[in-house]
Amino acid sequence: MTGTMPPQRPSKIVCVGRNYLEHARELGNEVPAEPLIFLKPPSSLIDGGESIVLPPQSAQVEFEGEIGVVVGRRLRHVSEADAIEGIAAIVAINDVTARDLQRKDGQWTRAKGFDTFCPVGKPLAGRMSADQLAKLEVVTRVNGEKRQHGKAADMAFSIPFLVSYISGVMTLEPGDLIATGTPAGVGKLEEDDIVEVEVVGVSMVTNPVAPPSV
Ligand code: ZN
Repeated sequence: MTGTMPPQRPSKIVCVGRNYLEHARELGNEVPAEPLIFLKPPSSLIDGGESIVLPPQSAQVEFEGEIGVVVGRRLRHVSEADAIEGIAAIVAINDVTARDLQRKDGQWTRAKGFDTFCPVGKPLAGRMSADQLAKLEVVTRVNGEKRQHGKAADMAFSIPFLVSYISGVMTLEPGDLIATGTPAGVGKLEEDDIVEVEVVGVSMVTNPVAPPSV
């Protein structure tokens, strides 16, 4: 699978909230007893190099660097072992979030769903073992300064568990993306920032931040 690009339009992007204890706490939450999942629309996807556009409706757009999973085949009610087999690649994802609107709306569709709010990197490596998945790390930099550093080992719910759990709710299709949650250190993006999410040694996505283009 080396060099394989994720399809431009997955049928869905499934995200996981509050999967790292320190991040849950920094926003005044606890880690939930079960994974907390939500969706971003495929229309939010952009590639590296494209601009994250700050929407006029929000005064607090934040980065969330995450380890992303590209689904390789149809997965429905699969075990963790089958989930590992069903992962085509790991990618860097930025789950860009309008934090003020997330608080205001009570549910997250608008805050997470603006166009350009889902930069995704290309995968540099293919299939991974459970051991390799457990050793993944994600780093976020803004203007070259490290702001987040998360380790899969510190997740409340592991990547195989998440894929298995989500497949028990909705059928995952080839090309679907899963964003596995963000570690502590989220922060505000300003016009002209450059934000970079790296799954160390595996995938990277770098994007400039632009004002509304109206
Ligand atoms: Zn997130």
